[in-house]
Order: sequence, then C-alpha cells, then structure tokens
Amino acid sequence: MVSIRTEGVVKRFGEVVALDHVTLSIKHGEFFTLLGPSGCGKTTFLRTVAGFELVDSGRIFFDSQDVTMLPPYKRDTGMVFQNYALWPHMTVFDNIAYGLKVRKLPKREIEKRVKEVLKLVRLEGLESRKPHQLSGGQQQRVALARALVINPKVLLLDEPLSNLDAKLRLEMRAEIKKLQKSLGITTVYVTHDQEEAMSISDRIAVMNSGRIEQVGTPSQVYFRPRNYFVADFIGQGTFLEGQVKGEKEGYLEVEAEEGLLLLASPSDPTNPPKPGDKVIIAIRPESFKLSKDTNTIKLTVYDVHFLGKSKRVLAKLGEKTFLVEVDPTLEVQAGTAIEVSAPPEKTLAIRA
Ligand code: ATP
Repeated sequence: MVSIRTEGVVKRFGEVVALDHVTLSIKHGEFFTLLGPSGCGKTTFLRTVAGFELVDSGRIFFDSQDVTMLPPYKRDTGMVFQNYALWPHMTVFDNIAYGLKVRKLPKREIEKRVKEVLKLVRLEGLESRKPHQLSGGQQQRVALARALVINPKVLLLDEPLSNLDAKLRLEMRAEIKKLQKSLGITTVYVTHDQEEAMSISDRIAVMNSGRIEQVGTPSQVYFRPRNYFVADFIGQGTFLEGQVKGEKEGYLEVEAEEGLLLLASPSDPTNPPKPGDKVIIAIRPESFKLSKDTNTIKLTVYDVHFLGKSKRVLAKLGEKTFLVEVDPTLEVQAGTAIEVSAPPEKTLAIRA
C-alpha cells in the first residue's frame, strides 16, 4: 500500500492538453475517484500513474519514491481497463496467471496465487473457460483478478462497470468497494458517472479539460461545490443568477430576477463574494420546501416525474425551470401554481 502524489503533471497530445498541471495527493488505502466528462483527461491520468504514458512535465511519487521515469513493470500497479482487455484465446486461469508467468514465479506459486484470487472475486470453478464463455460481470471479475494477482501497490480502475447493465453495475460497485476495503489497497477509479463516484469513493477529484476543479469527500463536492462546473456536474439542481447586495442576519443578501434572496455562506469561504459581485445561486431539488418561508418563489408546475421514493416536480417561472423534490404521495398537477421556499442554509452562492 502506498500514497500517490502528483506534482504539476502536464501531458499533451499534439495541441491537446490532456493533463494541465495536475497536482493531487492520494492517501494510503484510499478509494480515490477521478470524475469528469468524456475527454477531460481521466484515462490519461491513470495511464501516467501506471507508466503507460510518460509525462511532459511534473513528477509522480509513490510514497517518497519518484516513479516519474519508471517503466510500468517497475511501478507495481494493477490496472483494469474499460473493455477488460482479456486475451480471448486464453482460459480464465491463463489470463490471470499471465502477469505471474512474466515475473517468472514458480508454477506451484502461480497456481496457489491464481486460486486465491479466483476465490476473492468469486470465480472458483470457471478457470478453464474462455472469456467468450463468461457473462459480462464474470469477465469484469477476471480483469479484476488479473490486476490483483500480482499484489499491486496501487489498483487503477478505468470505468470498469460501464459495459454492465444497471443492476449488475450496482452489485459490482458494492463488491469492488468491499474488496478494496478488505485488501486496503490504494485505488484510483475513473468514471463519468457522478452517482457511481459518490457511492463508491472516499474522495473525489472533479476534472474538467485536464484540470482539477475540486477535491473532496462525496458530501463536500455535493453540498459545497467550489464552482459552477462542479455544482452542475455533480447532481441536479436549480441555478439562478443574482447580484450580492450585502449581508443580513449572517446571510448573503442577493438580488435575483426571482426576488431578494437570503443565501448561506458562499461555496468558497476563502474567496467570498462582495457587494456588487455576480453570483450563481444553486439549490438542490431536495432543498426546497413546499411552503411559504424565507426565499419564497411562486412557480407554475410544468411536469411531474414519479421516482418511487420521491416525486420530481419541474416548475417554471418565466423561462427558468426549477427542480423540486416532493413527497411521492403528494398530488401535484401540471398547470397548477405552487409556492416553494429555499431555506438559506440549504442554498449556495457560487461566484459567477
Ligand atoms: P473518456 O471518459 O471518454 O474515456 P477521458 O476523460 O478518459 O475520456 P482521456 O482519454 O484521458 O479522457 O483524453 C483526454 C484528451 O486527450 C482527449 O481530448 C483525447 O482525445 C486526448 N487523447 C488521449 N489519448 C490520446 C492519444 N493517444 N493521442 C491523441 N490524443 C489523445
């Protein structure tokens, strides 16, 4: 188990800056996720940590060891690729044993280690099958077993669940998390699925165009997004534009088209907006109350989605659509007027 530190890592592909001065610290045994839209540089980051890509500048450390120039086989990382990359002509056993054979371990030792790891990923009895004789979930487990069998210092997972159906994805998510915690292996996980990132990670780095926008626990990036990109990318919400007027009762007073609103402390306390500054007001669907109180806004219901545990009401004020989550038993009809309020402590003022 190691900690991983990158310092100002830059990686270019021609004109494209895939990693733009990426500085991150990943702790011993941590489940750390890189989350961001397609093309933001997530895979490139994993590949530079594994050593499949060399950085243009910056440094990478495993604990205090500088691994920046080390080839992949000297870094001791296990990687699971998005498409699993199993060898189709090899059996499950041979796919998993490959890394040990390359390392020239004795036959007995290889058999023992493969057996152990098959048990770990619950694939016992399937060792003589070929990949095409396995389900997607089983292939995914073979890929995981192949990464783990070498006892890597670091486990790198590149969207490992994206080829699985929704139900299996949930099961495998729980399995990977449990396995990671029981092995205590430092893990870097890549996904563009914010719900997956939130449910599996100790901490998340939100990436955008090769840069890190924010690093934090799932609840920090959800409730305290540092900027509009993070607020918008993580979960849903209503975003309004406003201008800071001043302070009142410890809250920010913000003038918006929807009225004078009182907002909680700014999303980035190190750089709070001042009177006159433009801000974006972010309100999560579950933060609205269906009653008159501070920050009351009158809306017209446009559509209602039944989600099981709640109803999602889409309501409009002029051209603006509000997302409001309500109790699923509540009758809300499209076309009717509702009054919602947003408790100040559940709103955020983000610098525009
Ligand atoms: P996805 O979620 O779609 O896999 P990603 O966030 O993993 O995307 P990367 O694959 O790291 O993104 O790519 C980052 C940027 O670098 C993209 O613009 C991509 O087109 C570019 N890129 C990646 N690899 C190469 C390469 N070998 N040659 C040229 N450009 C590349």
